[in-house]
Amino acid sequence: MQNAGSLYIVATPIGNLADITHRAITILNEVDLIAAEDTRHSQRLLQHYQIDTRLISLHDHNESQRAVQLVSKIQQGQNIALISDAGTPLISDPGYGLVNQCRQAGVNVLPIPGACAAITALCAAGLATDRFRFEGFLPVKEVACKNTLQQLLGETATAIFYESPRRILTTIERVAEVLGEERKLVMAKELTKTFETFKSGSAAEIKQWLIEDPVHQKGEFVLMIGGCEKVSDIPQEATDLLKLLMVDLPLKKAAAIVANHYDLKKNDLYKLGLEWASAE
Ligand code: SAM
Repeated sequence: MQNAGSLYIVATPIGNLADITHRAITILNEVDLIAAEDTRHSQRLLQHYQIDTRLISLHDHNESQRAVQLVSKIQQGQNIALISDAGTPLISDPGYGLVNQCRQAGVNVLPIPGACAAITALCAAGLATDRFRFEGFLPVKEVACKNTLQQLLGETATAIFYESPRRILTTIERVAEVLGEERKLVMAKELTKTFETFKSGSAAEIKQWLIEDPVHQKGEFVLMIGGCEKVSDIPQEATDLLKLLMVDLPLKKAAAIVANHYDLKKNDLYKLGLEWASAE
């Protein structure tokens, strides 16, 4: 092994066990220890590839203490790999505390790239990929969830969320309520697995699809929300300011201030504000 005393961040499959790189298998075989979110779950993957490296748990509830132990082991020359239950560690998964501590301690951290549900979904969705924002899981509480969604009212980039089968219907209902029934969505379900499905349509159509057959609500989901169409070439800073001013000022006044500040057409900003208001 070339880099003695390193932490390897190793991506594992998100469904199809074949989606793992040669390099990942080599690293998992050669390291001294594998830190895994759920050791029993990861044991199945290791057994499949006949890897008998020792596993140790690292999850949300023990990460801060575990990170101290692991950094010390790496400083003593051990090589450690971090994996999560699926996909790329740290992406809506544990590991940030460990990587952060390693970086602060000057410990070498090497990424071993592979599957990630967000990118896997995005590349086949048919939505714009030039600009996107990854938001992980939406807050569970209604007010916090709707506040997060409201930030997408004037967003022109594609937004990506993870969602569980328990909440997918409620989430789509909230999306329709906050962003309007016509907002374009793509739902990627059971990626890389036998029943992989991409379903695209308006928020209203996706809601209908989920309701018409309860089976449609089962599985793992990546929800992508298409960016809203630009009224004209209004820069992001101007839409951000308009949003801010609209909290305290009438739309007409807010649009006038932003138009003056950014040398834009007042009417374009007014129309944009009306669009947001009608989606509320
Ligand atoms: N670290 C992982 C990654 O790189 O994508 C994500 C972990 S996060 C705890 C798990 C969520 O990712 C699931 O609830 C689901 O939203 C999404 N996900 C994971 N695997 C998926 C799959 N095969 N199909 C669709 N979504 C998936």
